[in-house]
Amino acid sequence: MYGKIKEDLREGLREIRDAGLYKEERVITTPQGAEIQVQGGKTVLNFCANNYLGLSSHPQLIEAAHKALDAWGYGMSSVRFICGTQEIHKQLEKKVADFLGMDDAILYAACFDANGGVFEPFMTKETAILTDALNHASIIDGIRLTKAQRFIVNHMDMADLEAKLKEAQGAKYRIFATDGVYSMDGDIAPLKDICDLCEKYDCLVMVDDCHASGFMGKTGRGTHEYNDVMGRVDLITTTFGKALGGASGGCVAGPQEMIDWLRQKSRPYLFSNTVPPVVAAGSIAVLDLLSATTELRDKLEKNQKMFRKMMTDAGFDIRPGDHPIVPIMFGKFEDDARLAQEFAAKLLEEGIYVIGFSYPVVPRGQARIRVQLSAAHEEEHIQRAVDAFTKVGRELKVIG
Ligand SMILES: *Cc1c(COP(=O)(O)O)cnc(C)c1O
Repeated sequence: MYGKIKEDLREGLREIRDAGLYKEERVITTPQGAEIQVQGGKTVLNFCANNYLGLSSHPQLIEAAHKALDAWGYGMSSVRFICGTQEIHKQLEKKVADFLGMDDAILYAACFDANGGVFEPFMTKETAILTDALNHASIIDGIRLTKAQRFIVNHMDMADLEAKLKEAQGAKYRIFATDGVYSMDGDIAPLKDICDLCEKYDCLVMVDDCHASGFMGKTGRGTHEYNDVMGRVDLITTTFGKALGGASGGCVAGPQEMIDWLRQKSRPYLFSNTVPPVVAAGSIAVLDLLSATTELRDKLEKNQKMFRKMMTDAGFDIRPGDHPIVPIMFGKFEDDARLAQEFAAKLLEEGIYVIGFSYPVVPRGQARIRVQLSAAHEEEHIQRAVDAFTKVGRELKVIG
């Protein structure tokens, strides 16, 4: 009987609206790209997608996807182990494992599912999971599905990691889970220190590289390449829904026995369809492209560094870093939350699409606009963004 819950939900929704936290969907009327049109007809430069390599609407990918639709059909109507595996799924698993420098990989419908299915098959109540306090929601949920002992490690705090590793020595196995890159700050996990500590205390390392696969490191393999620890990270989870084409799908890559075990035991793999053929073939095309040339990740790095320098020169408070997520911080102003929202709204009027984040998404007093650079951006786009930031920044007295 839809009665009591309806009233409660209406009340709850009103509270969300009153608090200014209601999430609206902005409807886009064009393909994803550096320049998009939003409903209402306005054309804007897009600085808030995870389209890091500009592959979402890349002609080579669209061609590969068209061909795959003809060659492999539309859907599988089955989970993998019944009749839902084609040659391209096996090829993609091999290619992504090679790209990441791991033995093997297993596909999931999304990285959310990869993280949801990666812990439970190994981590019984005799084991321990250590997890960074700011890990992605899907890692948190994946850990919740286990009966393992849990240790929450202060964000990127190596002393706390060591303390928790010591506490967890009685467990049968230990695993430390971390995002490779944290999406609100663009912080890169210190994997060198993490691997050193985890080797010392006999602990597996699992890295979620959703915001890194395809572009971090000299050849774009991810944060393990960036931190020079390839071969020392045990498990990597990642998505095909960000830099690697941006459609959907995820995977776990790791040692042979662990991947074999996941194929027997991992519930989102066993009980849910995998990525459709078009997406599998498109993802193969992405990995082929990225293995042939580092041109796109090089351009992204150049864009990211250029934008950081131009914005710093313009007088903005940028959170330092080396990632295409560039947070413009408003913490030194009173009422930083409102300011970040108003700033983002004015930028949209200027044709620059970015998102303002404030408490409770980020800590109180750390409101920000998160800018995300892409290899699809040209220098002229970046210049236009900096010009708009400067104009609005003067208007709102954020810069002199
Ligand atoms: C985006 C993201 C995910 C989820 O990826 P999907 O493939 O979209 O489900 C998981 N972890 C992190 C760190 C992410 O940024």
